[in-house]
Parts: sequence; C-alpha cells; structure tokens
Amino acid sequence: MGCSTLYHLAKLGVTDAILVERNKLTSGTTWHSAAQVRALRHSRNLTKMIQYSVDLYSQLEQETGQSVGWIQKGSLSIATNQDRLIYIKRQEALAQAYGIAATSISAGEARERWPLMNSEDVIGAVWSPDDGRVSPSDVCAALIKAAKAAGATLFEDIGVSGVITENGRVRGIETTQGAIQCDAIALCAGLWSREVAALAGAEVPVLACEHFYLLTKPIDGIMGNTPTLSDHDNKLYIRDDSGGLLVGCFEPMGKPIKPGVLDANFEFGLLPEDWDHFQPMMEHALHRLPVLENAEVKMLLNGPESFTPDGTFMLGETAETRGLFLGCGMNSVGLASGGGAGMNLAHCIVKGAPAYDLSEADAKRFAPVFNSVDHLMARCPEILGAHYDIAYPARQLKTARNLRQLPLQIEFEKAFAFTGQFYGWERPLYFNAAKPPRHTFEKPDWFENVRAEVMSAHHDAAVFDLSSFGKLDVIGPDAEAFLLKTCAGYLDREPGSVIYSAVLNERGTFESDLTAQRINKYHYRLFVGTQAIKKDLAWFSRAVSGDAGAKSYDVTITDVTEDHAVLAVMGPATAAIIASLGANLETLGYFKHVETTIAGINVRAARLSYVGEAGWEITCATSHANTLYKALTTAGVKPAGLFAQTSMRIEKGFRAMGHELDSDVSPIDAGLQAFTRNSGGFIGFSELIKKSGQPLSQQIVSLKFDNEFAIPLGYEPVIHNGKIIGKTTSCAFGYRVNRPIALAQVSEQLESGMRVEVNIAGNHYLAHVSVAPLFDKEGLRMKC
Ligand SMILES: Cc1cc2nc3c(=O)[nH]c(=O)nc-3n(C[C@H](O)[C@H](O)[C@H](O)COP(=O)(O)OP(=O)(O)OC[C@H]3O[C@@H](n4cnc5c(N)ncnc54)[C@H](O)[C@@H]3O)c2cc1C
Repeated sequence: MGCSTLYHLAKLGVTDAILVERNKLTSGTTWHSAAQVRALRHSRNLTKMIQYSVDLYSQLEQETGQSVGWIQKGSLSIATNQDRLIYIKRQEALAQAYGIAATSISAGEARERWPLMNSEDVIGAVWSPDDGRVSPSDVCAALIKAAKAAGATLFEDIGVSGVITENGRVRGIETTQGAIQCDAIALCAGLWSREVAALAGAEVPVLACEHFYLLTKPIDGIMGNTPTLSDHDNKLYIRDDSGGLLVGCFEPMGKPIKPGVLDANFEFGLLPEDWDHFQPMMEHALHRLPVLENAEVKMLLNGPESFTPDGTFMLGETAETRGLFLGCGMNSVGLASGGGAGMNLAHCIVKGAPAYDLSEADAKRFAPVFNSVDHLMARCPEILGAHYDIAYPARQLKTARNLRQLPLQIEFEKAFAFTGQFYGWERPLYFNAAKPPRHTFEKPDWFENVRAEVMSAHHDAAVFDLSSFGKLDVIGPDAEAFLLKTCAGYLDREPGSVIYSAVLNERGTFESDLTAQRINKYHYRLFVGTQAIKKDLAWFSRAVSGDAGAKSYDVTITDVTEDHAVLAVMGPATAAIIASLGANLETLGYFKHVETTIAGINVRAARLSYVGEAGWEITCATSHANTLYKALTTAGVKPAGLFAQTSMRIEKGFRAMGHELDSDVSPIDAGLQAFTRNSGGFIGFSELIKKSGQPLSQQIVSLKFDNEFAIPLGYEPVIHNGKIIGKTTSCAFGYRVNRPIALAQVSEQLESGMRVEVNIAGNHYLAHVSVAPLFDKEGLRMKC
C-alpha cells in the first residue's frame, strides 16, 4: 500500500513525497503474500478498483523495466452445493455488468482446466480468464523505481515514532532519525497501523490474525502455471508454486494476534506452524486434491495479515486528525486491491476525494466502540473465516454483538426481534422471529413477519425505531448561514420546519443527506444516517473552521445522538391513537414539527414519512423512550423493523445513501434537484449548474417484477434491448403492490411502462419500469 500510494502521489505531481519504512520494504506482510489478484467483488467500485490493479500490474514491467511476475492464468470458482452455484452465478452476472470476462462452465469442463482436482461433488463452476497473480516484492520494487523516477524518495530503516499535530492537523512526524515536516500522512503500516494511528490520536480498528498456506515440493502433473482453483465451500484456494502446490485457506475461525505481540523486530518474520489448527483444512485439501496424499510438504507458512470489523479495508482521511489518511486493514486482498487502493488514496490526499465512491471503505465508518482490543480479538478471526462465505441476505456476524444498547433493546428482545448490527447498535430487522432465519436465496423465513408489519403501518399503526440515527445540534447566531453554505436544501425555512437536504461536496455529488428540524432561529437539529455520524460530524465541524483552522462561523456543533430517542409512528390509525394519548397532531402540516406531550412525556413530533403512510417521527429524551413506547404499543401500535421500512421506502421510490446516493451521484442524477436551491450559495452549486444544462447521464427508476417469485437482492444487472444499462440499487418484496420491487440506476433514459430484464443469478426476469413511485404516486396517503 505504501509503495502504490507513493507511486500514485508521484504520478499526480507530488514530487516531494517520501516513504518512510522502519525496516526493509515488504518486510511486514507483503513479502510472503500468495498475491492472487481476483477481480470480482460484490460492488461495482471495489471491482473497478481491482481491475485497475490488474491493468497496472500488467503494464508495470513495460513502464519500469522491472519484472513484476504477472501471471494471468485465470481463476476457477467451483460450487459443491446449490447455494454456492447461485452465488457464483450472481457473481458471474455482476462480472458481465462490469465488463469482466466470466463464464459458467460444467463440472466436467472445470476438471479439464484442473485435471488433478477430484470433481465428484462439483456441480458447476465459473471461469474468470483474466485473473492472475504477481510477485509481491517485485511489484513493490517496480512501483518504487517508477516513483523515484518521478521525484519521490524512499527511506528504509527509519521508523515513525510520533506524529506532530497542531489544532488536530498533521504537521509532521517524529522518526528514529529526527523530525520531518509534512502536511499529510498516508498511513500504510499494515498490521501496525492501529498503533501508529494512536500516535496521532486516531482510532483505527485493525487487528492481525494468523493466516496459513501449505507449500509442497514438486508434484507430478503440475506442469507450468495453473489457474487458481477457488473451492470456497471448503474454504480453500489452490495453485501451483515452483512445480508444487500452494494450498491456502480461510478456516472458519482464525487465530487473532494481540496488539504488541509483533513488534518492530518482526522483520521478514513468520509465525510458528500450527498443524492442529490446519488439520481440518488439510482434510478438505486431501479430498479436493488426492495427489496431496503422497506429496512432500515444504512448509506450512503462517504469516500475519490485518483484518477490520467488517472485512473491508480502510481508506481516506480520519475523523480525528486532519491530514492523516489511512490505507490499511487489507483483509487478505492487499495485493489485489493495492494498485487501485493506492491510486485512490493518492487521490484523497491530492484532490480531497477518491477517484470514485469508496464509502464502503471509508476511514470514518466504524463506531469508536470497535476500536476495543477485546472486540477486535473476537471479531477479526470471524472476519477471516467469513472471507469465502456465501453472502446470504440478512446474514449476521456472531461475535462482538450487543456493543451498544438502543433505549428499547429490552422491549425488542421481548418482541423477539431479529437484529442487525449498525454502527454497533442492534437494530430490529423484523419481529416475532422464533429463531434466526435460514440462510437461503429462496423466499426468506421473515416473508410473512414483514408482511404483517407493513400491513400494520398500511392499515393501522406501526412504530419504527429510528433512535440510532445520528443527531447533531447546530446552535449559534450563524446557524442559518452555516447550513445554507453546507447544505443544498432550503435550510432558511422558518422555525418549526422540517427540511430534507443533500449535503454536497465540491464536485456537486452526495457527501451525505439529512433531515433538519429548525427548532428556533439559532438552533437546528440534524438527523443523519446511523452509520454516517462520525463522518458527518467531521464534515460539519471542519466546515465551521475552514482549512485555515480559524472559526469562520459562530456556531457550535454537538453530537446529541445518545440523548434522544426517535420513534416513527406510521399508519392511518396513528392520529387517533396519539390523540387518545393526549396530543392533537392532525392540524400539523407536512414537513412541520411541534413540541407537545404524548402520554405525559414531552416530545417533539415531526410530520413526515419515510414509508409513505400518514404519521409522525417523535423525538423524546432517551430516558423516556420506554414509557412512550409502552403507551403506544398498549394503545395498539405494532412494532415494525427495518425490513418493513425498506420495502415501503422502495415502493415509495425514496432514495437512500449507500444505495441510490453516493459521492458519484449528484441530485440531478438522482432526480432530487427539487430539493436543492436554485439560488445557489452552497458547496457544490457551481458543479451542479454545469451539469444541469447537459443531457442526463443516469436516472433512478422503480421496477416492479412480473414474476412474484423473483428474489432480487441488489447489484443485479438491468438489461434493455439486450444491453446492460445499469444495476438494481435497493430491492425487496413490495407488499402493498404485491410484487418484488427494486430501485435501479440506469444509464439510459427510460419511461414509465417500458419493460426491462433483470439478471438474477443467470435468470432473466421481466420488470415494468416506473419513473414515479410504485405506490401512491401523488403521496396522498402520507399527507392526509
Ligand atoms: C498468507 C497470506 C496470503 C495472502 N494472500 C493474498 C493474496 O493471494 N492476494 C492478496 O491480494 N492478498 C493476499 N494477502 C494479503 C496481502 O499480502 C496483504 O494485504 C498486503 O501484503 C498488506 O500490505 P500492506 O502494505 O498493507 O502491509 P505490509 O506489507 O505489512 O507493510 C506495512 C509496512 O509498514 C512498516 N511499518 C510499520 N510500522 C512502522 C513505523 N512505525 N514506521 C515505519 N514503518 C512502519 C512495516 O515495516 C511494513 O513493512 C495474503 C496475506 C497472507 C498473510
């Protein structure tokens, strides 16, 4: 990561960039990497990033004269059960959408490509001819050679021992040979990144685990280079190595390494072999490759690799320290990702943002609670084990759960909530879950539970807990001026208003979105996404001070997330129920809020709906949430979870961050221009203006499937007239329209009534396009 970042900084013209390595280059994890480069990931931009690595590695030798050992022999993913076959076919469909070669082949054809494989239990495979592998040390040597040629400098045998900061901003580093001034640090210290970040007061939840592969002496039948054989059901990857075999694994539960155990002396180091731990994997390997029975083992290599709590690396500027940029926590794909990740990290430093949206890797996405050593020791081994797992819908991790308590957690447990972890909170996905749902791509176990919750909100009244939303109080004489600058929406509405707004960056694309309640002239409360709080707090706080560090607006910004609970009570019976509890809210206009008392509790009720039914989002002190909830449910309101909310949101065509909205998308692309001010004056306006005169390059549309049994999950290719024109972004079953539904991002202008196909695991399903919401187009129900 350090070499790739240096190379790309130099390419971007930063000729005074230096790389400081406390030992010798590659002496951490990189030198012993198996160094496979498989392009296919679950998201478009992560895949694009690895494709960039492939392109880089395949041309580096030509550029530098230094061989990088790029061997492009392809990879073969086999399936031994139906779910894996569906899963790899879903990946094949994604590959086609991203322009990557991938084809389904039979078990027989798979065997032809890997003659030593026992294929008796193989039921199908996907062949990806463009995947390859590199020599990791040679890649680094080539990157450094090119970076030096462009003016960059490498210092080996110099360790970073401190970070010099001033007003929360990087000013330099202390090293074992003195201080160096700098205004930006790319922290690429592999498994040591957590402790180096701590020198700058930043939290980087990264922990090393032991990671194994077996090497054999030469074996008859291995002639030349083989494709990589991915037997993910057995947690294995296999390829040739110097005429023998390399058999690597992601065993179900890895072995964590406590911070501090591996110190600066761990140079070109390896960990002890652990045959007991490897034994189950060895049995899988013997089953897949009977030839191993008589093979001579060269070594069981055990090297450390760093993992994060969600299995994705960390990239970009930290929330805690300006100028401290992360490129670490590579989760065993550091070589595959390194080329593209280094390019994106250099972009973050030089241009203020990655080359394309990489929110899923954002350095600010983890709740502070994840930085605890205990939680990392529990979670990271599971992440290693989950590397080859099938990503079933609603699949949950088991370790490091219940890290943060929602105010209603005990009530939710009593109502048998099945929860998902979001920013450390346990949010109910659905209720009345007698047991955890089966892992399946078929009709899910929760189908009828969610129907009941949607129908409660549609016919009667349901309560959705929004307490995990981030909440920021913006207070001060300049509050309005500040928010008019940082938000694209109509933040100058009078006190008592609720305002939806995009938060744009200088490129005019979504940094975030929020709902603001204007409490009085000088006080706004911003409601931001559950996972966005750290990022948004940093964004707004930095906007107050500007780059120079001097406060340019007279406002204070306070994170009040844990002080307030938010209950969204939705459905036609809500008004009467709330009236029976002492508040008459019927006259309150849409997008208005008011202070009132419900069941004797002081609340603020806001008239808006994310699910398309009449209702109020009610904010109260966290300590009162239980009493309010009990009063509501006793009066007949039923609890509803995130799955019901998502289904209803998609029916209403409401866009969501991380799905339809991200930093590649402008309000014009998302069809949300009506929520931005024509008068301008906000960050990103000049870019929006440039776009608004141009033909639309993309569009968000709603899709309703013909076949009620289709199960779209997201990221499926959308096809029109035989051509892939986009992807699904949010999917669910729509209970009010009685069909599977999706929102999709497409690059052609579609009209309502047109038909498209959606490729779900190789099967093409017909769907109707609607430019308007699928349910209650005029929005009459939520405003009645
Ligand atoms: C067994 C195994 C197999 C793998 N197979 C693959 C694979 O097939 N494909 C793939 O893509 N990835 C694979 N990986 C993962 C990949 O090797 C890593 O993700 C990658 O090498 C990490 O690179 P890095 O630059 O982040 O870290 P490192 O290579 O560890 O580099 C970090 C550097 O920071 C230096 N450093 C630390 N602290 C300081 C300090 N205070 N001052 C100065 N310098 C410091 C260290 O000396 C070190 O050289 C594998 C990993 C293992 C262990």
